[in-house]
Amino acid sequence: MSTTEVRTLSNVVGGEVVDALTGEFEDVLDPATEEVIARSPLGGPADVTRAVDAAAGAARAWGRTTPKDRATAILALADALDAHEQELADLESRDAGKPRGAALEEVQSCSDHLRFFAGAARTLSGQATGEYSPDHTSMIRREPLGVVGQITPWNYPLAMAMWKIGPALAGGNTIVLKPSELTPLTTVRLGEIANDLLPPGVLNVITGHGTPVGAGIVDDRRVRLVSLTGSVATGKRIAGAAAERLAISHLELGGKAPVVVLDDADVDKVVEGLKIGGLYNAGQDCTAGCRVIATPGVHDRLVEALVAALEGLVVGEPGGVRVGGAGAAGEAIDPGDVELGPVISAGQREKVLGFVDRASDAGAEVLTGGTAIGERGYFVAPTLIAGPAQDSEIVQQEVFGPVISIQRAADADQALEWANDTVYGLASSVWTRDVGAAMRFSRELNFGCVWVNDHMPYLSEMPHGGFGESGYGKDLSVYSLEEYTRIKHVMVSLD
Ligand code: NAD
Repeated sequence: MSTTEVRTLSNVVGGEVVDALTGEFEDVLDPATEEVIARSPLGGPADVTRAVDAAAGAARAWGRTTPKDRATAILALADALDAHEQELADLESRDAGKPRGAALEEVQSCSDHLRFFAGAARTLSGQATGEYSPDHTSMIRREPLGVVGQITPWNYPLAMAMWKIGPALAGGNTIVLKPSELTPLTTVRLGEIANDLLPPGVLNVITGHGTPVGAGIVDDRRVRLVSLTGSVATGKRIAGAAAERLAISHLELGGKAPVVVLDDADVDKVVEGLKIGGLYNAGQDCTAGCRVIATPGVHDRLVEALVAALEGLVVGEPGGVRVGGAGAAGEAIDPGDVELGPVISAGQREKVLGFVDRASDAGAEVLTGGTAIGERGYFVAPTLIAGPAQDSEIVQQEVFGPVISIQRAADADQALEWANDTVYGLASSVWTRDVGAAMRFSRELNFGCVWVNDHMPYLSEMPHGGFGESGYGKDLSVYSLEEYTRIKHVMVSLD
């Protein structure tokens, strides 16, 4: 019998903690145990209208606050997240199946992002004011957009919410935020915590599915910008719907990051890098280094080392039960030792295993993993697939699970050509000790981020965003703050 406490979640609208107007709820599961951990309000169109009403009502006053006042409020929110960090990390770990240490680190990164945007709020500026026409002074005003809609995925629920609300609040906008229906717990808690610190209506959190709640946000003509972190398919739908009424869309979508390993790379460093860069969050990361392309002088050594590394990973329930890796499955272990948790749902596990089966059918070799593991929960054994063809599905499509493919390129030129042969353009890395080669790849790789001898680290100060079908618009950094403002030219006659 389960001893899990089942939380009943609410929405946060206009400073009030409320139930959805539909009166309906749906269960939220722990992906490591399949236990019901919460009941989440299943919103409908009226819930969207109520939240946008609240955000629109608060927009004028919040938009006229000084940068200093907004910064003070954002800093207070960062302090409050720090004060609740363990509670939030526990919720995130249960809701998304994350190892506890990873969940805590992610929550801690959230307050850092907020502090960055609190500071950045006070640095916004336009071009120089001056006379560009005789007897006229021109100036640039940077203004809030008004109400923005923000829609987040299930892989980093709180962190993705933070990447979005930080610049939106700093720019003076009010927000309607919708978490993924699979992982609403920390976002709802964020809304409750923020209620004491932000004016009513500035941050509204509503729960429910993409349709009707997400789509309803996109269709409300008062929402001037819609920001999505999610799949390419959802991004295309939102871009189309937003275009119907010429709202701005801001899209952080999928990826298929190449990891180019040249002959002179430090293999141990590549392997350590891929344990994080390829498999962090069970590989459910838009920047996951899931597509290794190695040149002949390093390929075989890398394959051997990667198989050993993947087989040594401790796969487990975040609560401390071993599921896979060296040792007996089912034994109690220190929760701090768990390196890899489950994928998010039964459906995601089937999707991941389907990719592996089709890769194998197409002639690639599954060197390790490729199966579901565990008595309960949605676990997939860390998987390495060797030798897929460049045009095969496993190389071209995002898997979003603990699956890495490795290809042997004839030389560095072919490695570069294969790396860029994708519809995605989010993230990439190159591993070499040759400075010239590193710089050449940095210039030629067609991705929004290139790491050299690393894969995955983020910074509040640096932009994150893709090219091609990975979307457009930047998260993090001053670039994202600029995207949450509009530019107005004011011209004054001096006569
Ligand atoms: P998803 O597209 O299924 O859902 C994302 C969000 O969009 C959810 O809140 C969902 O309810 C909502 N949604 C779905 N249909 C909608 C519609 N028609 N209108 C409005 N909202 C709608 O994505 P997911 O499965 O939750 O997340 C995984 C995807 O997110 C992967 O493709 C991953 O690469 C991507 N991702 C990208 C980044 C990035 O920064 N580029 C970061 C994390 C995840």
